[in-house]
Amino acid sequence: MAEAFREFQYPSAPLAVYPEEAINGHRAFIARRRALRPSEEYRTLTDAEWEEFLGQLERRKVALGDCGRAYGTSCQPEHRCVRCPVLRVDPAQRLRLEEIRSNLRERVAEAEREGWLGEAEGLRVSLAATENELSQLDYRRHRATTINLGIPTFREIAGRIS
Ligand code: SF4
Repeated sequence: MAEAFREFQYPSAPLAVYPEEAINGHRAFIARRRALRPSEEYRTLTDAEWEEFLGQLERRKVALGDCGRAYGTSCQPEHRCVRCPVLRVDPAQRLRLEEIRSNLRERVAEAEREGWLGEAEGLRVSLAATENELSQLDYRRHRATTINLGIPTFREIAGRIS
């Protein structure tokens, strides 16, 4: 039976070929599941809906990069993008982010000086989030510029020995 599921297998690139019954069974399952969904979900979109969808994608563009919130959802953090986990910072906005960090540092110092402890606490959270975003940018840049020196990994060495 196992052979029926694996007609071809090459040492470097294993390939599984499934029997026709398995494929047909899977397709029938998908058709049954679709039949259970409201037919409204499978109708053709109107032009207005399509425009609305495209507009939503355009509204994902924010000053610091791209907003990754799900389609049709509103902005829960009320546009505090720098503290938002779904923000994807555009590397071209690094200077803007550095300005935000410097501004936040000044505002934290002012709030502490003036005794606005609640304000200082919120600003420190924003400052930590900004520093985190800058570190993420550094990490992404480092990964993009990593050069392979051809040094074998432990896994490759262990594979040769065994
Ligand atoms: S706060 Fe978050 S969800 Fe709202 S616009 Fe900014 S990145 Fe998007």
